[in-house]
Amino acid sequence: MDCIFCKIVAGQIPATLLGETEHSIAFKDISPRQPIHILVVPKTHHSNVADLAFEDPTGLVDLVQLGSKLAAEYSTGSFRLSFNTGIEAGQSVFHAHGHITSNTPKNQ
Ligand code: 5GP
Ligand code: ZN
Repeated sequence: MDCIFCKIVAGQIPATLLGETEHSIAFKDISPRQPIHILVVPKTHHSNVADLAFEDPTGLVDLVQLGSKLAAEYSTGSFRLSFNTGIEAGQSVFHAHGHITSNTPKNQ
């Protein structure tokens, strides 16, 4: 399957990795829209967060936990976790992923 996030999970495309669990990885968004912009991604392929919720609920909880830990590490604690779902909603990569964004980085 020609999926850019599957390739990042497999190490075939470089990314700035920030964290990893058994089920999920986290890396910097290549085109950050906030001072902190981290993507949290399941290691297995699901088209969007709704599919992930039904197909691997444990993986979704793991992804939220990893994102929350990184948000606590890199921000003052105020952050947004968003999942664009569907083309018209702005989804451009059809491998489920959450955006952790924050305007309030730690130590600034
Ligand atoms: P979506 O638009 O699907 O909600 O989010 C996809 C995100 O993936 C975008 O914010 C985009 O900047 C990011 N992205 C797309 N390709 C790459 C890539 O090759 N590496 C990284 N690190 N981020 C990517
Ligand atoms: Zn994929």
